[in-house]
Amino acid sequence: MPAPSLSDLLPAETASPEETLALGRQLATTFEAGDVVALYGDLGAGKTHLVKGICAAFGLPPHIVSSPTFTLVNEYKTDAFPLYHIDAYRIKHVEEFFELGYEEYFYGDGLCLVEWPERVEALLPEHTLRLRLTHLGENRRRIWAINNEE
Ligand code: ADP
Ligand code: MG
Repeated sequence: MPAPSLSDLLPAETASPEETLALGRQLATTFEAGDVVALYGDLGAGKTHLVKGICAAFGLPPHIVSSPTFTLVNEYKTDAFPLYHIDAYRIKHVEEFFELGYEEYFYGDGLCLVEWPERVEALLPEHTLRLRLTHLGENRRRIWAINNEE
Protein backbone atom coordinates (compact mmCIF):
# COMPACT_ATOMS: atom_id res chain seq x y z
CA MET A 1 0.00 0.00 0.00
CA PRO A 2 1.47 3.39 -0.91
CA ALA A 3 2.14 5.84 1.92
CA PRO A 4 -0.88 8.04 2.61
CA SER A 5 -0.79 11.73 1.78
CA LEU A 6 -1.99 14.46 4.10
CA SER A 7 -5.28 14.80 2.23
CA ASP A 8 -5.93 11.06 2.71
CA LEU A 9 -5.55 11.45 6.48
CA LEU A 10 -7.27 14.78 7.17
CA PRO A 11 -9.84 15.86 8.11
CA ALA A 12 -10.14 13.17 10.78
CA GLU A 13 -12.15 12.44 13.88
CA THR A 14 -10.74 10.46 16.77
CA ALA A 15 -12.72 8.84 19.58
CA SER A 16 -9.94 8.35 22.14
CA PRO A 17 -6.46 9.61 23.05
CA GLU A 18 -5.07 6.39 21.55
CA GLU A 19 -6.71 7.16 18.22
CA THR A 20 -5.10 10.61 18.22
CA LEU A 21 -1.72 8.99 18.88
CA ALA A 22 -2.34 6.63 15.96
CA LEU A 23 -3.29 9.55 13.71
CA GLY A 24 -0.07 11.32 14.71
CA ARG A 25 1.93 8.22 13.71
CA GLN A 26 0.27 8.23 10.30
CA LEU A 27 0.69 11.98 9.80
CA ALA A 28 4.38 11.63 10.59
CA THR A 29 4.90 9.61 7.41
CA THR A 30 3.93 12.72 5.41
CA PHE A 31 6.43 15.01 7.19
CA GLU A 32 10.06 15.59 6.37
CA ALA A 33 13.08 17.42 7.74
CA GLY A 34 12.61 21.17 7.67
CA ASP A 35 8.84 21.03 8.06
CA VAL A 36 7.09 23.25 10.59
CA VAL A 37 3.73 21.97 11.83
CA ALA A 38 1.59 24.45 13.78
CA LEU A 39 -1.05 22.92 16.04
CA TYR A 40 -3.94 25.25 16.87
CA GLY A 41 -6.53 24.32 19.49
CA ASP A 42 -7.70 24.97 23.02
CA LEU A 43 -6.29 23.43 26.17
CA GLY A 44 -7.12 19.72 26.12
CA ALA A 45 -7.82 19.64 22.39
CA GLY A 46 -5.17 16.95 21.98
CA LYS A 47 -2.19 18.88 20.56
CA THR A 48 0.31 17.14 22.82
CA HIS A 49 -1.24 13.74 22.10
CA LEU A 50 -0.84 14.36 18.38
CA VAL A 51 2.79 15.33 18.97
CA LYS A 52 3.32 12.13 21.00
CA GLY A 53 2.01 10.11 18.06
CA ILE A 54 4.22 11.94 15.57
CA CYS A 55 7.25 11.42 17.82
CA ALA A 56 6.36 7.73 18.26
CA ALA A 57 6.75 7.29 14.50
CA PHE A 58 10.39 8.33 14.95
CA GLY A 59 10.94 5.82 17.74
CA LEU A 60 10.31 8.02 20.75
CA PRO A 61 8.16 6.49 23.50
CA PRO A 62 5.11 8.70 24.21
CA HIS A 63 5.89 9.03 27.93
CA ILE A 64 9.05 11.04 27.25
CA VAL A 65 7.08 13.59 25.19
CA SER A 66 5.31 16.26 27.21
CA SER A 67 4.46 19.91 26.70
CA PRO A 68 7.61 21.94 27.24
CA THR A 69 5.63 24.55 29.11
CA PHE A 70 8.48 25.94 31.18
CA THR A 71 11.39 25.38 28.82
CA LEU A 72 9.39 26.41 25.71
CA VAL A 73 11.28 23.90 23.55
CA ASN A 74 12.07 20.21 23.91
CA GLU A 75 14.53 18.74 21.47
CA TYR A 76 14.39 15.01 20.78
CA LYS A 77 17.12 13.24 18.86
CA THR A 78 16.02 10.56 16.43
CA ASP A 79 17.81 8.43 13.82
CA ALA A 80 16.26 10.57 11.08
CA PHE A 81 16.57 14.20 12.24
CA PRO A 82 15.94 16.24 15.38
CA LEU A 83 12.39 16.84 16.50
CA TYR A 84 11.68 20.23 18.04
CA HIS A 85 8.58 20.41 20.23
CA ILE A 86 7.67 23.99 21.03
CA ASP A 87 4.89 25.13 23.37
CA ALA A 88 4.53 28.87 22.93
CA TYR A 89 1.72 29.21 25.48
CA ARG A 90 3.79 31.24 27.93
CA ILE A 91 5.38 33.52 25.36
CA LYS A 92 4.11 37.03 25.97
CA HIS A 93 6.43 38.94 23.65
CA VAL A 94 7.94 37.62 20.45
CA GLU A 95 11.29 38.95 21.73
CA GLU A 96 11.40 35.93 24.04
CA PHE A 97 11.25 33.75 20.98
CA PHE A 98 14.10 35.68 19.34
CA GLU A 99 16.23 35.09 22.43
CA LEU A 100 15.51 31.39 22.14
CA GLY A 101 17.14 31.33 18.70
CA TYR A 102 13.97 30.34 16.91
CA GLU A 103 15.61 30.27 13.45
CA GLU A 104 17.23 26.95 14.33
CA TYR A 105 13.78 25.48 14.87
CA PHE A 106 11.84 27.16 12.06
CA TYR A 107 14.54 27.12 9.39
CA GLY A 108 16.71 24.19 10.49
CA ASP A 109 17.09 20.54 9.55
CA GLY A 110 14.60 19.16 12.02
CA LEU A 111 10.86 18.66 12.16
CA CYS A 112 9.33 21.40 14.26
CA LEU A 113 5.99 20.91 16.06
CA VAL A 114 4.46 24.03 17.58
CA GLU A 115 1.69 24.18 20.19
CA TRP A 116 -0.01 27.57 20.68
CA PRO A 117 1.42 28.89 17.39
CA GLU A 118 -0.84 31.95 17.56
CA ARG A 119 1.62 33.32 20.14
CA VAL A 120 4.35 33.47 17.49
CA GLU A 121 2.14 33.78 14.43
CA ALA A 122 4.16 36.59 12.84
CA LEU A 123 7.34 34.49 12.95
CA LEU A 124 5.94 31.29 11.46
CA PRO A 125 7.67 30.52 8.17
CA GLU A 126 5.78 30.59 4.92
CA HIS A 127 6.07 26.81 4.60
CA THR A 128 4.22 26.20 7.90
CA LEU A 129 1.58 23.49 7.81
CA ARG A 130 -1.33 24.55 10.01
CA LEU A 131 -3.53 21.97 11.72
CA ARG A 132 -6.47 22.68 13.98
CA LEU A 133 -7.83 20.41 16.71
CA THR A 134 -11.20 20.88 18.34
CA HIS A 135 -13.38 19.18 20.97
CA LEU A 136 -16.44 17.43 19.57
CA GLY A 137 -17.28 15.65 22.82
CA GLU A 138 -15.67 14.21 25.91
CA ASN A 139 -13.41 11.87 23.95
CA ARG A 140 -14.03 12.99 20.40
CA ARG A 141 -11.72 15.36 18.60
CA ARG A 142 -11.69 16.71 15.06
CA ILE A 143 -8.36 17.42 13.36
CA TRP A 144 -8.01 19.20 10.04
CA ALA A 145 -5.61 21.25 7.97
CA ILE A 146 -6.17 24.98 7.64
CA ASN A 147 -4.58 27.27 5.11
CA ASN A 148 -4.67 30.44 7.13
CA GLU A 149 -5.26 31.06 10.78
CA GLU A 150 -8.96 31.83 11.17
P1 ADP B 1 -3.37 19.90 24.53
O1 ADP B 1 -1.91 19.72 24.31
O2 ADP B 1 -4.12 20.34 23.30
O3 ADP B 1 -3.67 20.81 25.71
P2 ADP B 1 -3.37 17.17 25.49
O4 ADP B 1 -3.01 16.25 24.39
O5 ADP B 1 -2.33 17.52 26.49
O6 ADP B 1 -4.03 18.50 24.87
O7 ADP B 1 -4.59 16.60 26.32
C1 ADP B 1 -5.74 16.11 25.73
C2 ADP B 1 -6.62 15.59 26.86
O8 ADP B 1 -7.86 15.12 26.34
C3 ADP B 1 -5.98 14.42 27.58
O9 ADP B 1 -6.37 14.46 28.94
C4 ADP B 1 -6.60 13.23 26.88
O10 ADP B 1 -6.65 12.09 27.69
C5 ADP B 1 -7.98 13.75 26.59
N1 ADP B 1 -8.62 13.16 25.39
C6 ADP B 1 -9.85 12.62 25.36
N2 ADP B 1 -10.17 12.22 24.14
C7 ADP B 1 -9.11 12.51 23.34
C8 ADP B 1 -8.86 12.35 21.96
N3 ADP B 1 -9.75 11.80 21.10
N4 ADP B 1 -7.66 12.77 21.48
C9 ADP B 1 -6.76 13.34 22.31
N5 ADP B 1 -6.94 13.53 23.62
C10 ADP B 1 -8.12 13.13 24.15
MG1 MG C 1 -0.18 20.62 25.11
